[in-house]
Amino acid sequence: MPEPTSDATTGEGAAAGGDPEAGPEVPDIDLPSDAFDAVLDALADRDAGDPLRFEGFGVARDDDATGEYRLDPADGDRRTGLSERELHEALSERAAEVTDWYAFERVVGEFGPRRAFLRWLEDADGATVATRYAALAEGIERAWGELKITATVTDRGERRYDVRHADDAGVPADELDRYDDPLDARELVKLDEKGRYRPLKTAPTLAGGWVFPDLGPRDAYEAVETVYPATVANWHREREGELDVTHWRETMERQSGIYGVVKTWDRGEGHEHVDWVAEACCDDSQCLKRREWGYDDETDLDVDGGDGAFPCREPCSVVVSAARKWTRLESEQPRTYEFELTPSEKEQVEEIIDAVADGRIDEIREADTKEGANRYRTRFLRAKLFDDEGNLGGVPTEPDEADEADEADEE
Ligand code: SF4
Repeated sequence: MPEPTSDATTGEGAAAGGDPEAGPEVPDIDLPSDAFDAVLDALADRDAGDPLRFEGFGVARDDDATGEYRLDPADGDRRTGLSERELHEALSERAAEVTDWYAFERVVGEFGPRRAFLRWLEDADGATVATRYAALAEGIERAWGELKITATVTDRGERRYDVRHADDAGVPADELDRYDDPLDARELVKLDEKGRYRPLKTAPTLAGGWVFPDLGPRDAYEAVETVYPATVANWHREREGELDVTHWRETMERQSGIYGVVKTWDRGEGHEHVDWVAEACCDDSQCLKRREWGYDDETDLDVDGGDGAFPCREPCSVVVSAARKWTRLESEQPRTYEFELTPSEKEQVEEIIDAVADGRIDEIREADTKEGANRYRTRFLRAKLFDDEGNLGGVPTEPDEADEADEADEE
């Protein structure tokens, strides 16, 4: 499983800024009262002597009678009999570690996709608090599909996130449309930059020009899951070894109603047709998910599943809908048509198909008549080769109909 990529302009999860020889520059953090209160609450829920662990040290209630606390640093400089004020002082000296605990244990909360994702954003399972806080002070950037997420830390140890289109990296936030409610992302993902509906939310057609510049952890997660639904959940399942994959055959066999026809496409003649579907729809150029499903449990497809950060666990509704259409089209029997093309015209037809399939039509300039899919060249080909009914080479698609028309003429 490929790890999600990081833009890593600050170095992936590494210290940013400062002299690398001197180690990370940890920003000054003030211990906020809500983090300190959370520590007191957590200690109150524990037995005396049962320590609450932070990176490099622990604290515990000394004993129930005195209401005092003890500090248990990893370096062995254990202190006991601390009053609440002294405990606050001691924790203030270690505010980075305490606020890191508070951010994940109390603000983010329960173990699951959200917590795993937010920790992954700042490489929290692999780097020390000091290293991460130094990097967060500069901003840790991560890519998720077409999103760029930048995590930072305030001087109170709070995490803040900037979420935007990767194409808008480096654009000042006040030059983009600002949003603060993550659910506003529902509108942002509906249309591509040309205003066309996006049926597949993981297609690489997300429009830019907007920013969520200052989200908290839960809202950042919400925004990402709104732009790319279920991607974090499936990424997390995969990391936990729990991704349940439903393959092509199983998915098609359970289709019913108007989609039931897709069951008839599998005729026990191999899976080449499914290779074509995956090549058409699931290629990285068309979908940012990494296809993990195959033909069936034992048969993978012959085309690459892609390099996306998040997995695809079953054929999606866009693929099922397209497969329904292909099931009908592919039930036709091939015929032999005969018409003449010059070698250049044959190549031009191939170039047109390529340009449409790769979505390059808009890139081909009107003046560039070297391109087979150039509009003037294509219009010329149509003018030359189509008859008045739009038949290529004057050859009707349905020869029987032509015969009938001839017979009618003769009568
Ligand atoms: S089935 Fe293919 S196109 Fe659909 S979400 Fe999965 S990878 Fe993307």
